[in-house]
Amino acid sequence: MSTAPPLDLTRFARHRLLDGVTPIQPLARLGKQLGSVEIFVKRDDLMGLGGGGNKLRKLEFLIAEAQAMGADTILTVGARQSNHARLTAAAAAKAGLACELVLTRSVPRDDEDFVHNGNVLLDTLLGARVHDVADPAAAMPFLQHRTASLRAAGRTVYVAPFGGSSAVGCLGYANCAAEILAQSEAMNTRFDRIVVPNGSGGTQAGLVAGFLAMGRDPRVVQSYTVLAAADKAHATTWGLAQETLASLQPGRKVPGDAIVLVDGQIGGGYGVPTDAMREAVRTMASLEGLLLDPVYGGKAFAGLLQDVRAGKFAKGAKLLFLMTGGLPGLFAYRRAF
Ligand SMILES: *Cc1c(COP(=O)(O)O)cnc(C)c1O
Repeated sequence: MSTAPPLDLTRFARHRLLDGVTPIQPLARLGKQLGSVEIFVKRDDLMGLGGGGNKLRKLEFLIAEAQAMGADTILTVGARQSNHARLTAAAAAKAGLACELVLTRSVPRDDEDFVHNGNVLLDTLLGARVHDVADPAAAMPFLQHRTASLRAAGRTVYVAPFGGSSAVGCLGYANCAAEILAQSEAMNTRFDRIVVPNGSGGTQAGLVAGFLAMGRDPRVVQSYTVLAAADKAHATTWGLAQETLASLQPGRKVPGDAIVLVDGQIGGGYGVPTDAMREAVRTMASLEGLLLDPVYGGKAFAGLLQDVRAGKFAKGAKLLFLMTGGLPGLFAYRRAF
């Protein structure tokens, strides 16, 4: 058994938000039904703060960055049902920062649940001020204007990146790569694929940078894109991975083929339900009692199920699906089910 080279992140400031290592669990009933592969889940939906989810790993480093600049206020942008917005609000509350969220109507849904329930309900409970900016193209100008007026009023403002995805935020997933490697070695298991959703790209980029930094093949990570078309998502994710790796190991380069990204699950657009997503959410819930979100995990898992059924993975392959959270989204999408 080889020992994983540790990834030393101690030189990066970190504000702890997670409770510890998230568990890896086998999906025995689903694996039996599929027949040809073994499926495991990494439970990044199991985190205590603010309902949990993948953005908290990024926020550990982003909040530290905000604190280092002496910020008293944090701003970010997102879609109306953004999990990143909700978790930024939760992390801000915990760290004692004021939080303002600029939420757009980029997803074509306008029922009561979508507009007011789910993440939006939690944003307000967590004490964030929500700005409703319908046009996504108006979000950045609004954010800049709001930042300028807060600064003029004497506040020190930190603007968190879209989806928490900057080289600093991605350190959270580089760290997760080290966590997965340590867990798989403790389980005496080698995962053939680690499957993730790709939205703003930071989750995949951080994992890829982490595996490269540890001298491992980053192509073990495979994403299904749920937001941007494959070529654009590939470029964004590669750029983030490159920046993250450079901050870990100056001078290192991310090969172009390090980003394995699969298209075909976006359907009518980001946040627009597909039949495959509904089937994936129902399958995971009814066979395993686990709840996927409708925007990210549901679509990525739909892609995974399709590819398993199409025989795209070797017989007996061990697949690790990263559950990224987003449960509140189900309550916003009641009508989609
Ligand atoms: C943001 C998000 C993702 C996508 O992560 P990125 O780092 O933006 O690619 C996946 N799942 C959930 C639940 C999310 O909120």
